[in-house]
Amino acid sequence: MSSPSIDELISLVPTANLIGDRWQEAETSAELPVIDPATEVAIAKIPDSSDADVDRAVRAARAALPSWATLTPRQRSERLMALADALESDLRTMSDLETIDAGHPTGVVSGEITSGADRLRFYAGAGRTLEGRAAGEYAPGYTSMIRREPIGVAGLITPWNYPILTAITKVAPALAAGNTVVLKPSEQTPLTALRFAVLAHEILPAGVLNVVNGRGSTAGAALVTHPDVDIVSLTGGTVTGREVSRLAANSLKRVLLELGGKAPAIVLDDADAAATASALRYSAFWNAGQDCSAATRVIVTPGIYDELLEHLARQVASIAVGDPRDPTTDMGPLTYDAHRDRVLGFIERAVDEGGTVHIGGGRRSGAGYFLEPTIITGVAQSSAIVQSEVFGPVITLHRVPDLDEAVAAANDVEYGLGASVFTHDIGKAMEASRRLDFGTVWINDHGAVSAEMPWGGFKQSGHAKERSIYALEEYTRIKHVMVKLP
Ligand code: NAD
Repeated sequence: MSSPSIDELISLVPTANLIGDRWQEAETSAELPVIDPATEVAIAKIPDSSDADVDRAVRAARAALPSWATLTPRQRSERLMALADALESDLRTMSDLETIDAGHPTGVVSGEITSGADRLRFYAGAGRTLEGRAAGEYAPGYTSMIRREPIGVAGLITPWNYPILTAITKVAPALAAGNTVVLKPSEQTPLTALRFAVLAHEILPAGVLNVVNGRGSTAGAALVTHPDVDIVSLTGGTVTGREVSRLAANSLKRVLLELGGKAPAIVLDDADAAATASALRYSAFWNAGQDCSAATRVIVTPGIYDELLEHLARQVASIAVGDPRDPTTDMGPLTYDAHRDRVLGFIERAVDEGGTVHIGGGRRSGAGYFLEPTIITGVAQSSAIVQSEVFGPVITLHRVPDLDEAVAAANDVEYGLGASVFTHDIGKAMEASRRLDFGTVWINDHGAVSAEMPWGGFKQSGHAKERSIYALEEYTRIKHVMVKLP
């Protein structure tokens, strides 16, 4: 079977907003281009929606809320299960759309779609288990009980790095808990969210899932400030998180923030250098390093430093960078031009500050936003490439004397999302995991996730949990009902 052309793929995606029971053009005719990052060609246009479009979507979500919230958990679960089945049936189209929109290689992108289906199924089941703690008599003459209720209309705002997977990670618990949704995908990568809305339109009651396209500063901000949106969940940069918190403050809505990361990987002398280098190849360069949990700072004790660097350089040199449509490609382009330039800027500045590019460091000639996978050594802890989220295929290697210094360096950034430690000494591993100021700590691996386990950051990485039962609870409110006994 030959691959569909870009025109054929785009014809499967309505480039409009899904509001209530129909696809609607935006109020103004302003549009935003969708660029294929491997070719730099504009492949579609989406509406640059205004406050009025967002308002229409919020009203549709509000109208759908009473009947969706009062379905039984089983009835909502059946619809989420059907949506998971539809998503899997659409696997090839969804994968191809993510490849042309975000540049994710065709050989691996289907895993993002099947993970999305898995998260839908997880929340379809988990939504049926929601409960309050014990009912009982806590004051003389009264029985108390706890109800967990949906919060209301959820405004969900997603980034461009895992477009469909992040959207589903928010939509699934929000819907399972009985909320209705207005989703605003990233303006950089809207296609799979729109395709998902096509599937949902066939399965969910009208208005339960609405999708509004547009920029963050306009459509996104309109969603955050809307008085009839009860909860906002953002995955995005830390600067955006601060702005969203500020914008949400007037209406005092609940805000869930999943923000940037700057993950350290600590490698101790007794670690297996070859296995560690192999793990870091994937965790640092998966999705061209455009991953909030990417292992970006490799902090190494002296006894293994040279051996690890040698293995790592061999691993990194074996990464096949190229056309994401080629099934042998490991790493595609970065997702958009300004971001590619920003990552290059970090590399140049690191070199100006005395760093050494051990491997990579440049862009690929020709079209597309491609960068070479890069290892940099010899940079100071205070340098921008160590302190800031680079979000590209770049790691820095640091030599430290011992575990204490390793933990100190690891914690010495404003972020606190993911971290790892590689060692065969279980005592040291547990000690490090206790002292690392990060929401997830892996031991002898970096980056593995599952729907059942929570994900979320500390410090400037945000303060919410996604995945797991904890995320479901984030989308509920607790009500105490107290009955006076006769
Ligand atoms: P971004 O902050 O630029 O945009 C994220 C979303 O927010 C987009 O939909 C954007 O349109 C919207 N937005 C921007 N300004 C807004 C505003 N003022 N009001 C409302 N919405 C607004 O982030 P990005 O560049 O799309 O994504 C990359 C960032 O996301 C990185 O920092 C990465 O670490 C982070 N991220 C975090 C996680 C996590 O789980 N913590 C996961 C993936 C990505």
